[in-house]
Amino acid sequence: MAQIELRNVGKRWGDFVGVHDFNLTIPDKEFLVLLGPSGCGKTTTMRMIAGLEDASNGDILIDGTVVNGMEPKDRDVAMVFQSYALYPNMNVYENIRFPLKVRGIDPKLHDEKVRRASAMVELDDFLHRKPAELSGGQRQRVALARAIVREPNVFLMDEPLSNLDAKLRVSTRAQIKNLSHELAVTTIYVTHDQIEAMTLADRVVVMEKGVVQQVGNPTEIYDRPANTFVAGFIGNPAMNLIEGQVRAGVFTAPGVEISGLSAPDGAATLGYRAEDASVVEFGGHINAPIYSLELLGDATMVTVRIGQTLVNVRADKSFRAEIGDAVSISVPAGICHMFDGQTGARIE
Ligand code: ATP
Repeated sequence: MAQIELRNVGKRWGDFVGVHDFNLTIPDKEFLVLLGPSGCGKTTTMRMIAGLEDASNGDILIDGTVVNGMEPKDRDVAMVFQSYALYPNMNVYENIRFPLKVRGIDPKLHDEKVRRASAMVELDDFLHRKPAELSGGQRQRVALARAIVREPNVFLMDEPLSNLDAKLRVSTRAQIKNLSHELAVTTIYVTHDQIEAMTLADRVVVMEKGVVQQVGNPTEIYDRPANTFVAGFIGNPAMNLIEGQVRAGVFTAPGVEISGLSAPDGAATLGYRAEDASVVEFGGHINAPIYSLELLGDATMVTVRIGQTLVNVRADKSFRAEIGDAVSISVPAGICHMFDGQTGARIE
């Protein structure tokens, strides 16, 4: 069992703050994803938990014990990196077995443990192969098995899928999800890929510039983004955001008029998701010329331009029009998200 607690944990190098005071309790067995763009401080946060980086301030606790200053090897965490760093001269079996040797585990137990871990990642048939004789996905599974074989209290995974091609990423992602369910070990997973975050996580921490923007389960993050940063980062496509003005519950921007909103008068940013809106014959809330049309197979993504902003709507796959044609989009108040025009914070 392993509960991890971060109390005001921060990291600075000189004047530069990589991670601002981070407060979070990660309960035992939770699959937590740290999500954000490059440079937002995800890896640094994970490295501080692993003990590979000292925190500049704050305390890190594992099961109630402060671990600041404790060696990585004493923290009972296993890390999986994007570069899998396998030993090229050892075959798969020996690679997976290696952590058991290093940790002085009774050799009589090795074979059973290696076979159990390799079966979990479906590598049973590859045990005699060298890393050079494996595909990228198989190598990543060896790295996973090497973490699993240690039976750690915590898994730390830093972009483990980023070196795989798109198809393999999807299948390995499903495998990680299945494994985490089977192993039920506290896992912290770093990614900049919001789809990975949404599909894997029990809870997601969205970070930007070293600051936590929102913590929540995937549904909360998707349905109720805390600010325009989260709204513009989550979803495929991300939420449409339009800057405008609210007066007496009516939002206006060039080519846009939406009434019935509960937001105070003044500058505001309105958000809506492409899949919640619809194309209508006439009388919609957004009226603008078509900027582009993309066939998605099961639907057509229609993008229009309002002022300097591009926004889109998911239309039926049978939708027919030309670039430049006028289109009307229904965006009723009920599907809208309102954000403060200055701070970008959600208005509720
Ligand atoms: P990526 O997805 O690109 O790996 P990240 O969110 O994991 O990004 P971090 O690696 O945690 O980001 O880096 C956070 C910030 O701290 C970045 O701006 C980075 O340049 C900075 N940083 C990281 N290590 C150091 C260091 N040793 N000295 C100074 N600045 C650093």
